[in-house]
Amino acid sequence: MSLLVQKFGGTSVADADRIRAVADHVARSRRAGDQVVAVVSAMGKTTDQLVRLADDVSATQPRREVDMLLSAGERITMALLCMALADLGVEAVSFTGSQAGIITDTVHTRAKIVEIRAERLLETLAAGAVPVVAGFQGVSTDRDVTTLGRGGSDTTAVALAAALGADACEIYTDVTGVFSTDPRIVPEARKLAKVSYEEMLEIAATGGRVLALRSVEFARNHHVPLHVRSSFTWEPGTLIDEEDTTMEQAVVTAITHDASEAKVTVLGVPDQPGLAARLFRGLADRNVSVDMIVQNTSTTGRTDISFTVPGYDLAVSTEVAESLVPAMGASGVETDSDVARVSLVGAGMKTHPGVTALTFETLAGEGVNIEMISTSSIRISCMVRAGDAERAVRALHAAFELG
Ligand code: ASP
Ligand code: MG
Repeated sequence: MSLLVQKFGGTSVADADRIRAVADHVARSRRAGDQVVAVVSAMGKTTDQLVRLADDVSATQPRREVDMLLSAGERITMALLCMALADLGVEAVSFTGSQAGIITDTVHTRAKIVEIRAERLLETLAAGAVPVVAGFQGVSTDRDVTTLGRGGSDTTAVALAAALGADACEIYTDVTGVFSTDPRIVPEARKLAKVSYEEMLEIAATGGRVLALRSVEFARNHHVPLHVRSSFTWEPGTLIDEEDTTMEQAVVTAITHDASEAKVTVLGVPDQPGLAARLFRGLADRNVSVDMIVQNTSTTGRTDISFTVPGYDLAVSTEVAESLVPAMGASGVETDSDVARVSLVGAGMKTHPGVTALTFETLAGEGVNIEMISTSSIRISCMVRAGDAERAVRALHAAFELG
């Protein structure tokens, strides 16, 4: 008998038929002798609709109330899934994040889990019932409802799997696994049987939309094996686990792209100690997570600092940068959201030279201009014009023979 956390994303529970199909799967897992904790997302595009509703109603949107609103989506699903399970004779009990004992910090709309008090879930399991937990939400140390950031149900599932010592965390979604690139752009993209945590972190951080980044970090830190698979075909998907060091690593495992970032440039920054610190402290204090940073050596005593931020943080980042221009003695701020980042990820890069050269040659061959570059030991990212991104992905996927 295994203890499984099974998470069902928005498309997996998008309508009544889907919810019944999910209930059927949970019931089958129970019949096979496994214990199940189900974690659910909001149905279909419910969260997007709630976000739009808030936009229509309010210009200020107090964060506490945004969380109260957004957390409602998952509550609908959890109750409906329990009803569908009841029809199949499976006893199930729904829990909000708060009731499930998911305690977070007080940062509304992007709260972090600080503790899980799993007693109620354990009691429910011991009584032979299936706990069905609303994903994406918790209760803060100030006792307010919080949400974990978009895509946060994955994090709920992984955190519960860690807290309960589950044997596996299954993430059910509308694709059959993690692919070598987005199959909508490259039809020959391959499903990957196994991906290491480190690779998956880079894939999730650079636009691979299958798993939320925080959930992968959590899984790696707590050694929770993940299985990403389809709730439409139920076939085996992609396993995410420790790196298999006994096998030769692929040089490049996956190619991702992300057009959701924007570029901010602070122009004419005097070449003095402390100015970059000031800028990035200002951004950090507003909870902006900066990704790429480029600063050139200066020849004239001044330099430009460019960095990228998530598109939704562009307004606040621009505000921070502009407010610091006088104090920094800089000459101005420019922003550009018409950019996209194309990234190559692969554990084998550590030991294979020449990946960067082939990457740049391939982009050059396509006439794609590289505006910014950043690397880690297992990733190369290039910022390009948004309109060039898909062409770049196709060319790189072919050049590294990932099809
Ligand atoms: N419903 C939330 C969202 O759409 C959380 C999730 O689905 O993971 O972002
Ligand atoms: Mg999701």
